[in-house]
Amino acid sequence: MKWNKNVSYSIIGWGLMVCISCNRAKQEKFESTKSNSEMAFSKGDKVTNDNFIGTVWLNYLVETDTAHNVIIGSVTFEPGARTNWHYHKGGQILLVTQGQGLYQEKGKPIEIIEKGAVVKCPANIEHWHGATPTESMTHIAIGTNTNIGGAVWLDPVTEDEYNNVSKQ
Ligand code: MN
Repeated sequence: MKWNKNVSYSIIGWGLMVCISCNRAKQEKFESTKSNSEMAFSKGDKVTNDNFIGTVWLNYLVETDTAHNVIIGSVTFEPGARTNWHYHKGGQILLVTQGQGLYQEKGKPIEIIEKGAVVKCPANIEHWHGATPTESMTHIAIGTNTNIGGAVWLDPVTEDEYNNVSKQ
């Protein structure tokens, strides 16, 4: 092939295309890394039982056994979603890993819980937890002393109870 202007343009053209694809690949890699680092654990499967209101995702991380007596799951609540009222016979610890949510023990005000919060739910105390009306929330839920017993599920948190946060 004789070296001429057309060949030069063709080489420049191919060079540009390679560069653009290269950058696009880098960008995609960056974006997938970013989303992985935001979520330490995948959100798991959609919860389909009646113990929750709204859209909730659960990723079981540790099944209970007699050596550890804990059960651990990452739970993601979409805005407006929450547990029913319930209590844990062996207690529970919540580690908030993403977003902003709500926690309330029966007879006490609703607390706002945010990424980084550690919440101890005492054994046999009725409570609920979930997202705020406008933000999602993910927490790692650690059921402790599972040899004593697990969660006991009660009534749903009504809209009035849930919306009480804005009146406090
Ligand atoms: Mn709980």
